[in-house]
Amino acid sequence: MNVKCSFCQTPYTLSRVQMLDALQEMDAHKLTHYDAHCPRCRRATRVERKRMEMFFPNWREALKQFEAEMQAHPQSEAPLPQPESAPVAPAESNPQPAAAKKSAAEKKTSAKNKAAKKK
Ligand SMILES: [Zn+2]
Repeated sequence: MNVKCSFCQTPYTLSRVQMLDALQEMDAHKLTHYDAHCPRCRRATRVERKRMEMFFPNWREALKQFEAEMQAHPQSEAPLPQPESAPVAPAESNPQPAAAKKSAAEKKTSAKNKAAKKK
């Protein structure tokens, strides 16, 4: 459904998943509206529950289906955006500490060798 930000007038769309989420939450907390967050200014615009239910009358049915799908395929289509993707492990820059260790070890042994030679 389409929502228009009441602050910056940006029109944006609530997907079915977002509506399901919203309706579920409103139902759980006995709310009469949902705060849709503007993608541009991040402020909340109230969306009447009635309006959303009119737009998506069979949401309970859809929710059941959606949950069944999520259970069947837990990896597919997460309903919410991923929270800060895990920091990408710099796997390729790993050799550096190892190399440092190696050179340190080499220094040690060469120092030892020098000492041994001196003796
Ligand atoms: Zn806005």
